[in-house]
Amino acid sequence: MHDVIIIGSGPAGLTAALYCARFGLKTMILEKMVAGGQILLSERIENFPGFFGGISTQELIERMKRQIEELKVGIEIDQAQEIIPEKHLQSHFFNVRGKYNSYTASSIIIASGASPRKLNVKGEDKFIGRGVSYCGTCDGPLFKGKEVVVIGGGNTAIEEALFLTNYAAKVSIIHRRQQFRAAKILEEKARANPKINFILDSVIDEITGQDKPEAVVIRNVKTNSTSCFSCQGVFIFVGIEPNTGFVKNLLNIDESGFIMTDQSLHTSKEGVFACGDCLKKGLYQVINACGEGALAADSAHKYLLSRVK
Ligand code: NAP
Repeated sequence: MHDVIIIGSGPAGLTAALYCARFGLKTMILEKMVAGGQILLSERIENFPGFFGGISTQELIERMKRQIEELKVGIEIDQAQEIIPEKHLQSHFFNVRGKYNSYTASSIIIASGASPRKLNVKGEDKFIGRGVSYCGTCDGPLFKGKEVVVIGGGNTAIEEALFLTNYAAKVSIIHRRQQFRAAKILEEKARANPKINFILDSVIDEITGQDKPEAVVIRNVKTNSTSCFSCQGVFIFVGIEPNTGFVKNLLNIDESGFIMTDQSLHTSKEGVFACGDCLKKGLYQVINACGEGALAADSAHKYLLSRVK
């Protein structure tokens, strides 16, 4: 029996673990794959305070992991399927049913993050892993000297397009508007990069090819005209979807699946807290995911203290 089980080991979950352990709470993390979460889909983070010039995301996560390992917090590889509130005599606790085992704790912190959203165009599913990718850092090296397109106009799309220029001969950013959602500093870097080309007011309707992508069908949303654009790689960065399916029957979530909390990050279920990209909030950054991890841990600690009174 743990005091707290944290579900997810991205920056929010790792920070929550650090704070819980320092509060003296018996803490474990459940992680479905590898520690780090979505941040590892990017190669570097340039806006984490204190790291002038940026830090590799791998190194940042390794540092966070080392901190919790020193405090003897374990990371169990298992995927939470369901959280079941239980009551035995006067004591309330939660049973987390994983794929392989079950785990119990007096409180839960959900830090399950989000995953890249699919574009849902013809050809996307057919070529996933064979030229359609949602991670430049993972797949960029496979496109050395090739032409690739990047779909999206947010921070992820521009950062990844910049990263892809380390390998690809040409990177074309296809975005459905003229204005970018991405930070100005990123847009300016992309505009200054001779390998990057912009195709604006445009969407893609289809990815075509035999065994691998050979072209995308681009439609200009202003004129409705379509054209075929040759490329060997299609990188899709059109937003994120929260990993919250396993709590949809337990917690209040919004229409997109993001978890609703109060200001102390308490969810609609007493004893369950949430932090990071699975939350309904205004800013999705590593810095506030960490802050939320600290706050969720503090709230869980106060909740547990209130129960022993
Ligand atoms: P995002 O900010 O939601 O941007 C998604 C982009 O995809 C938007 O430009 C959107 O166009 C476009 N899009 C959405 N659906 C589309 C469709 N069906 N067809 C064509 N285009 C479509 O998502 P994100 O870039 O993945 O970032 C997710 C969150 O993480 C954001 O809050 C972001 O700020 C944060 N983040 C921050 C950093 C950083 O600070 N370094 C890095 C990465 C991510 P519209 O603009 O027209 O809606």
